[in-house]
Amino acid sequence: MKAYPVRCVSVVIPVYNEEQSLPELLDRTEAACALLNCAYEIVLVDDGSRDASADLLQEAAERQGSHVVAVILNRNYGQHAAIMAGFEQCKGDVVITLDADLQNPPEEIPRLVRLAEQGYDVVGTVRNHRQDSAWRRWPSKLINLAVQRSTGVAMNDYGCMLRAYRRTIVDAMLACRERSTFIPILANSFARHTTEILVEHAEREHGDSKYSPMRLINLMFDLITCMTTTPLRLLSIVGVGMALLGVLFALALVVLRLMFGAPWAGHGTFVLFAVLFVFTGGQFIGMGLLGEYLGRMYSDVRARPRFFIEKVVRGSPQTALEAVPSSAPAYAHKVAP
Ligand code: UDP
Ligand code: MG
Repeated sequence: MKAYPVRCVSVVIPVYNEEQSLPELLDRTEAACALLNCAYEIVLVDDGSRDASADLLQEAAERQGSHVVAVILNRNYGQHAAIMAGFEQCKGDVVITLDADLQNPPEEIPRLVRLAEQGYDVVGTVRNHRQDSAWRRWPSKLINLAVQRSTGVAMNDYGCMLRAYRRTIVDAMLACRERSTFIPILANSFARHTTEILVEHAEREHGDSKYSPMRLINLMFDLITCMTTTPLRLLSIVGVGMALLGVLFALALVVLRLMFGAPWAGHGTFVLFAVLFVFTGGQFIGMGLLGEYLGRMYSDVRARPRFFIEKVVRGSPQTALEAVPSSAPAYAHKVAP
């Protein structure tokens, strides 16, 4: 792993109706960034807030010598879309994401930057003594497990948005054209070296969580569809299982009918069940096949870079063609699942 000089750090924060947290957030983030010995900018994205958040951000950005960049969206697009908008506007070599509600301490920013400097592409965080209710904790445990299984990337906490990404990873994410996405997982699909650190997690002081149960379900679907099309394949597997059970049931019926006679078999009523099983199984297999096509189409429509070249190093210096710098990653269009 090669160390990596950081000239500029961008902090990207999505803001949705957070007027009460903003003054403290700005103060603490500024103070933490001032400890970095490099340039920095704080990019705050207003995600269509209905309170005074957008005005506060604009004021902060217009202040003399301010490090704040205010990005105002016309309406509410959701946390991850807002972060993407921030990515598009930021110019740091390392980009930190953070929640606006102060549940993630901004004081950890220098620690994240140091790790990115050491060469980690993605630095995640694990919430120590997580301050969320149990009904929020259990679903996220399940999700973490599912993600680990399906992406093979071992991270413990995908829910904590206090994270650092290197420029190359941010560029790769911006090259993805999908509308609904889940940034930590998307980032991991382009990362080579990742690590996690333990951070404190505070209770929300002002306002409520912006995720209603319905939005949480939506987020969960974003997360699943962002990493895999396996659920579509499951349809075929369920279908095959069902059809096989139907056939076995029919065989058992034939044997038992021969042993115990027609009255035992309800004069053919049970056979209907067996036939039904086989047909329903067949339907599921058909749906699974449709799913396979759909999955492939989804991948193509999503148009993620098919691969992500971190850098190209060529041995002989006879030509003027130098190695492609890592800040200009090469893409080919279309998708990797
Ligand atoms: N957020 C946003 N748009 C939304 C919902 C949330 O920009 O539609 C921001 C919100 O202001 C906060 C972060 O995303 O900075 C996380 O939201 P929240 O704290 O409500 O989520 P939770 O901590 O409950 O998962
Ligand atoms: Mg929160």
